[in-house]
Amino acid sequence: MNYLLIPKELRPIAEKVEANQRISDADGLTLYRSNDLNALGIIANVVRERKNGNYASYIHNRYINYSNICVLSCQFCAFAAKKRDAHAFEYASDEIIRAVAEALPLGITEVHMVGGLHPTLKKDWYLDLLRGLRALDPDLHIKAFTAIEVRHLARRIFHMPPGSFPLLSSRKPRCSRT
Ligand code: SF4
Repeated sequence: MNYLLIPKELRPIAEKVEANQRISDADGLTLYRSNDLNALGIIANVVRERKNGNYASYIHNRYINYSNICVLSCQFCAFAAKKRDAHAFEYASDEIIRAVAEALPLGITEVHMVGGLHPTLKKDWYLDLLRGLRALDPDLHIKAFTAIEVRHLARRIFHMPPGSFPLLSSRKPRCSRT
């Protein structure tokens, strides 16, 4: 490991990682709070190479934003739109299913699908979409909806009380675009 690129406060942790020692909870917090992505990457790569050698893996997927319409207006977000905006879009569920069907022969194993917090899409839109995707291929990995979308759907469509999702309610869920 090139210690010249590791700041002083991370060096003891880097040394532990290089010596294959377990890091403490406090070390984990120190890493979590660090903004030095180069140093974090160097340290993480020691573990990655130890586990996987010089191999890297990836998933061949079809990424779909089903809509950018969102009830929120997070300051940093360049994705979301209001329905009245010229760049607002939403796809019909059969358009999305068709796009995934076209990608399957190319070898995808996953569809990754996220959108804004849509104000009006109906329950059946989501259920038709998910059933249609599952019918395409029972082995397709459907990776869909961020934590904040799940919370939004739970409240708006399924009318679930706020305490129904302890993991999502214990702290504010964040959009994956953050
Ligand atoms: S919830 Fe997500 S999509 Fe909506 S405004 Fe915030 S970051 Fe953008």
